[in-house]
Amino acid sequence: MKPAPFEYVRIDHPDELSALLTEHGPEAAVLAGGQSLMPILNLRLRRPRVLLDLSRCRALHDLTPTSGGLQIGAAVTQATVLSWPRLAHQVPLLALALPHVGNPQIRSRGTLCGSLAHAHPQAELPLCLAALDGEIVLRSQRGERRIAAADFFIAAQKTACRPDEYIAQAHIPCQSIDEGSAFLEVAVRVTGQAQVACAAIAGPHRLRLAVLAGQATPQVHDYPLLPEADLRDQLDIIARSLALSCASADDDAYRRQLVVSLGLNALKQAQRARDRRAAVDAQIMEHRR
Ligand SMILES: Cc1cc2nc3c(=O)[nH]c(=O)nc-3n(C[C@H](O)[C@H](O)[C@H](O)COP(=O)(O)OP(=O)(O)OC[C@H]3O[C@@H](n4cnc5c(N)ncnc54)[C@H](O)[C@@H]3O)c2cc1C
Repeated sequence: MKPAPFEYVRIDHPDELSALLTEHGPEAAVLAGGQSLMPILNLRLRRPRVLLDLSRCRALHDLTPTSGGLQIGAAVTQATVLSWPRLAHQVPLLALALPHVGNPQIRSRGTLCGSLAHAHPQAELPLCLAALDGEIVLRSQRGERRIAAADFFIAAQKTACRPDEYIAQAHIPCQSIDEGSAFLEVAVRVTGQAQVACAAIAGPHRLRLAVLAGQATPQVHDYPLLPEADLRDQLDIIARSLALSCASADDDAYRRQLVVSLGLNALKQAQRARDRRAAVDAQIMEHRR
């Protein structure tokens, strides 16, 4: 398996990337970590004329805490994000989800922005971006536009990124100190691909559940604080409404059942995490008095 011939350009400056994307449009492909693109090229499912490799562009390697969140440049690998020392404190959901992405070798090359650009329906990072109300900065020679996760993912492997644009950064808001998070996934053993994944965030007055279960784009559901039986009813509604294309009726029923049990467990875990955080906070306040 070899890719069709292409011209390779190593990008050293973001302006160069914008200029070449304007020049070549859909004939060009951005190469980040290559973990999804290279297999696609090797299978000749895509035949770009020019490959624009941004992985060594220093200006795109920034991982910067901002006042409200975390700014992650296009060339920042998933491993770098996971090893950021304040991740578990500032964005606990991402810290819980990232270990589910592939394996350490994949994460050491694969970028967070590359996974968002690829928008695979079984990928964990688009699900997290949607759950966290993250945003994406798209850059081209026409300028920059900032787009919410809810508007970015259009269909399976289809995003709002235009042919002359690239993802320059992802913005992940910091989670509030009074929130708890949980991430649960059941994956196919051989491929590691998620069958169902649930990202849950529990705040003092609301619950959020983002579900990945074979649908084209991440689905986010918000609830008030409900008793367990009512939450189960809500999850039954989600499970029944999924448009699945499983190989058999048994697979289909199994996946719907997974949505209910993983979703409920994730919401319960997130609420326990929230309560633990609140208890620790109360102890610290008591200690300070
Ligand atoms: C064995 C294996 C297991 C995997 N397991 C998982 C898993 O469990 N969960 C999961 O989510 N993923 C998994 N992946 C995919 C992996 O996470 C990839 O790293 C990720 O999907 C793409 O990131 P990348 O940096 O490698 O992008 P690339 O492969 O370089 O690019 C992917 C696509 O995005 C485009 N692109 C990349 N960066 C940009 C940008 N900044 N702007 C615009 N377009 C861009 C490329 O043109 C291409 O179309 C796995 C991959 C492999 C090979």
